Amino acid sequence: MSNFVNKLLSEYGARIVLTGTAITNRASSYWDPTPIAAKAIIRPSSVEELSEIIKRCNIAQQIVVTHGGLTGCAKAADTTAEHIVISLERMTDIEEIDEISGTITMQAGAILENIQKTVTEKGFYFPLDLGARGSCTVGGNAATNAGGINVIRYGMMRNHILGLEAVMADGTIVSSMNKMIKNNAGYDLKQLFIGSEGTLGIITRITVKLEMAPKSCATALVAMDSFSKVTSFLKHMRHAAGPRLSAYEVMWGSYYDAVTKEGWHSAPLTRNYPYYVIVECTGSHPQSDEIVFMEALEKALEENIILDAIIPKSESERNSVWTVRENFEPIMENNPMFLYDVSLPIKHMESYIQEVEDNVMAKWPKGDSYVIGHIADGNLHLMICPRTGDESLHEKSNEIVYGPLKELGGSVSAEHGIGNEKKAWLSHSRSQIEIDLMKSLKKTMDPNNILNPGVIF
Ligand SMILES: Cc1cc2nc3c(=O)[nH]c(=O)nc-3n(C[C@H](O)[C@H](O)[C@H](O)COP(=O)(O)OP(=O)(O)OC[C@H]3O[C@@H](n4cnc5c(N)ncnc54)[C@H](O)[C@@H]3O)c2cc1C
Repeated sequence: MSNFVNKLLSEYGARIVLTGTAITNRASSYWDPTPIAAKAIIRPSSVEELSEIIKRCNIAQQIVVTHGGLTGCAKAADTTAEHIVISLERMTDIEEIDEISGTITMQAGAILENIQKTVTEKGFYFPLDLGARGSCTVGGNAATNAGGINVIRYGMMRNHILGLEAVMADGTIVSSMNKMIKNNAGYDLKQLFIGSEGTLGIITRITVKLEMAPKSCATALVAMDSFSKVTSFLKHMRHAAGPRLSAYEVMWGSYYDAVTKEGWHSAPLTRNYPYYVIVECTGSHPQSDEIVFMEALEKALEENIILDAIIPKSESERNSVWTVRENFEPIMENNPMFLYDVSLPIKHMESYIQEVEDNVMAKWPKGDSYVIGHIADGNLHLMICPRTGDESLHEKSNEIVYGPLKELGGSVSAEHGIGNEKKAWLSHSRSQIEIDLMKSLKKTMDPNNILNPGVIF
């Protein structure tokens, strides 16, 4: 154990400073079961404690990597045995629900699902929602500017955050805590930390704005025979349901087929359609909301935009439908499986996916690609399985997926961030001037390069 860690251990104790098997008993991430490598995992319980520790790490030029729920998809929280991990797992307090302002203020280690449940009990709704809700933290959501399934209506994490506190690389606590939607007093500094993947500061507290809990929620799983019908149905639902439309999640037929194969999820609709969409509308007038939803679906069926539909009649039926979209374990069983998160204008999606699928087939004749997407946000997730059992194929797969994006005006990261995984492709989506400005911000805010160094660029 290094002298530095020994000193921290003797001052803060083994409850705060984890070493040895207390580190190696932990998995590296949701995606990677191998043990975490680190000199120590430090678990402060207050911002003051964290500030002192970071100040000392900065003086010692000790690299620190922040861990939230470790569900991130861009390898942004990866560590080596030389790193110290800062885990926010003991900073989970809900400090205030302000029912008049409609805000909640919490420590950054709070788990997203706990926040969702807590505010629901008070009649509010926190609309950020994603498949990792049971493990990801709101600090991680802020650091990655998470998106998820309700962005079409409510926006990404950035749109919810009103106030934020962070510890900077020299230990300074910067508080941009705020509850107002309007506050134009100079630069909006909290934005620097949102989506910065832990490279500019450690987020410790957040205030987010809440919505009123919806009183109705109507869900349907529908099937189409062409991508043009997928986009027509989106337009149709936007027109018919207006602001009620809160989720529009597309699954390509091959994805649906793979996750509903024998022994896995039951298929709510038959398995032979080219496209499936989960559409969800929420509102505050249950009777009229249901009429609007049903009429919209009936019209889409009459006009042959959709070929089939199923409407869950209970919460458990609704969950079964969402499980098909959110749980892709049957695909994760393939090794290797490369997961992608890209964005591009909707009008190019069909031809882009065709090009990717053709190139996967040409390179790996036994390979498969599976696609799902929050398409209204321009966001697709691809899972490429070369089926040759060779990890070194990742770079070739990256070329197939990222290669066409620049010309199409797309982005190599829609919502997962750049992390360590996509650094080589950053210049595909950002100009040199933008990257230089990012680097100069990093240098100004973290001159010793101790916070998640090497992440993003
Ligand atoms: C099943 C599943 C579904 C998912 N679906 C979505 C989705 O729909 N949309 C989406 O956007 N993402 C999705 N994700 C990715 C992931 O859940 C998000 O990126 C999430 O916001 C990460 O939060 P976390 O607490 O797990 O962060 P971690 O994975 O622990 O960390 C991610 C990054 O944030 C940094 N970080 C964490 N906490 C802090 C902090 N307090 N201060 C500063 N930096 C910090 C880390 O250093 C790292 O760079 C999904 C993941 C899984 C496993």
